[in-house]
Amino acid sequence: MTNASRRPPEVDRAAASRRAVEARRARASLKRDLGTRVVAPQEALRRAEADPASAAGSMRVTDFLLALPAVGAGKRDRALADLGISPVKRLGGLGPRQRDRLYGWLDARFPEPEPRPGRSRLLVLAGPTAVGKGTVSARIRDTHPDIHLSVSATTRAPRPGEVDGQHYFFVDDAEFDRMIAAGELLEYAVVHNKHRYGTPRGPVDEALAAGRTVLLEIDLQGARQVRRSEPSATLVFLLPPSWDELVSRLVGRGTEDAEERARRLRTAKVELAAQGEFDFFVVNDEVARAAEHVVELADVPA
Ligand code: 5GP
Repeated sequence: MTNASRRPPEVDRAAASRRAVEARRARASLKRDLGTRVVAPQEALRRAEADPASAAGSMRVTDFLLALPAVGAGKRDRALADLGISPVKRLGGLGPRQRDRLYGWLDARFPEPEPRPGRSRLLVLAGPTAVGKGTVSARIRDTHPDIHLSVSATTRAPRPGEVDGQHYFFVDDAEFDRMIAAGELLEYAVVHNKHRYGTPRGPVDEALAAGRTVLLEIDLQGARQVRRSEPSATLVFLLPPSWDELVSRLVGRGTEDAEERARRLRTAKVELAAQGEFDFFVVNDEVARAAEHVVELADVPA
């Protein structure tokens, strides 16, 4: 047999190297997702367990740990020694006991939120900038007229096509000040360092009293205020399918200049880091599916 005939055909090698490049790219993307908390470490471990050939499964455990927020080489090496895991292992190749120990280690450092009992029908939808909260809530408004979508007051000017009283109540600073002073706002915040936005309390209270589900699509600061004033509210965090996808949605929108985009990406990272304060996560991979998922969360157990 000649050397040439023992080598795989040219086309196979090309395909194999394309697959290898693709796999590396997928692992690099997953590392960014872990670092920005778009994907929880336990979720990556679950994916690795379900499919050892996946991006998560084929990732070295050393790379996995190093990709996590606030884990450096020292912490990683101590963890591997404590957990009895060899640094050459891949996530999909861990034994059941190693995996259990790793889950325990992750749970202690990256607790996953657990739904609280006694939730009300007040749903708050928040998430990082450009994740598509507006699109998901518009979809819910169109497909679930039974759900009351709160109309916020804002001091920003209407965009073309926006209708006063439908998309927002467009008010001036003096009127916004008056609403605050009169206690008419359930929460309010300055968003993107520019304009003020707030949730009028009256319509929310009325809809809840009538037994309806109420949806607030607000920013993170607003969600925190609602958590404080209405602890029974259900907080839902909308996640992008991946960090790379969030970046391309932000850039794709093309409505901001480079400096503004960079600022929003920094904000998005900070916002993603707050997800532990929420009760549920919904991944916005497809608007209709994400909207249905959010609606299902309104089904409060009796
Ligand atoms: P836009 O100006 O693009 O319509 O909205 C900008 C941001 O304001 C969005 O992230 C949206 O979630 C947030 N927002 C809209 N209404 C409210 C509100 O009533 N309260 C708070 N805190 N944020 C809001």
